Amino acid sequence: MTNIFGITKEDLELILVNDGKKKFMATQIFEWIYNKHEYNVDNFSNINNDNKKYLKEKFDFDFITLEKVEEDIDVKKFLFRLKDNQKIESVIMIHNYGISICVSSQVGCNMGCKFCESGRLKKVRNLETYEIVEQLILASNYINKKIDSCVIMGIGEPFDNYDNIINFIKLINDPKALNIGARHITVSTCGVVPKIIEFASLPFQVNLAISLHAPNDTIRNKIMPISKAYSIDELMNALDYYYKKTNRRVTIEYVLLKDINDSKDCAIELANLLKGKNVYVNLIGYNETNNISFKASSKENIDLFYDTLKKCGINVTVRRKFGNKISAACGQLRSKEV
Ligand code: SAH
Repeated sequence: MTNIFGITKEDLELILVNDGKKKFMATQIFEWIYNKHEYNVDNFSNINNDNKKYLKEKFDFDFITLEKVEEDIDVKKFLFRLKDNQKIESVIMIHNYGISICVSSQVGCNMGCKFCESGRLKKVRNLETYEIVEQLILASNYINKKIDSCVIMGIGEPFDNYDNIINFIKLINDPKALNIGARHITVSTCGVVPKIIEFASLPFQVNLAISLHAPNDTIRNKIMPISKAYSIDELMNALDYYYKKTNRRVTIEYVLLKDINDSKDCAIELANLLKGKNVYVNLIGYNETNNISFKASSKENIDLFYDTLKKCGINVTVRRKFGNKISAACGQLRSKEV
């Protein structure tokens, strides 16, 4: 049975009409589940008994299970159990300008980035659209507040689960569903070039972030296996194409790893690579984990890297650190559990 939280409004209308039902019932259902937070079909008071029976036979309205929450003042980390007992996680971050969520897109990940906890646990399967949407609904219900922005930067490579991610984006962006503005949605990829090209043609204004993490192929090959499939040159060409098609600025993520990619020379090389492109660089402090030997760059090195980029005219910010006390690094909570 299809879970209702994985179906866009347009698709639901098609299914209903196809089954001889009124198209308008889709609006009523969306109103109940996304607006009134009513998930029991028996309580859909404007829907008659025949249609209630039909809905119950046709769709699942149930949820993944919220297993555990680790909390700090400005960050909450959620561990969910799926129907097949797989575990995934999401993080909510409370900023002074709003609440953002980071959702997972797969169970595990096959990209194999050497410094990443999620990559240690190989991909088991893609998440269904409803399993991504429900992370957001359950987290939002838990804090009893609307979520303002969403980054797809949790466990998994979103562009390795492309169709479900696009449906997810449509659903959270729909004003009749979760109503998160496209400009407040960000997809982060390790650089799956053909999907960046495909993504460039979509009609919505969603942000794209690229996990670059190195200024040249030699370093990138050592830490990110994807770079053997797509070189930095190919990646830069894809970014140029994306920018030409969408006119949207791309975020370059760069996690600073001690003695690997954090020297002043690396910063200069990165600046030369990105010069003239409409990008901004987000420097990320590495979250050290027990299972992996990479170390975080020192505060001095992070500052030097930042200043060097800045002096070279590159737009750059250092990402605020959340949740050091709890297991907030990508995949850490789940990896304690499996
Ligand atoms: N697969 C996607 C999205 C998930 S990873 C991607 O690669 O972009 C989200 C981001 O967290 C990536 O930039 C990833 O490189 C980074 N990351 C992974 N482990 C980390 C850690 N321990 N500390 C800091 N950043 C990490």
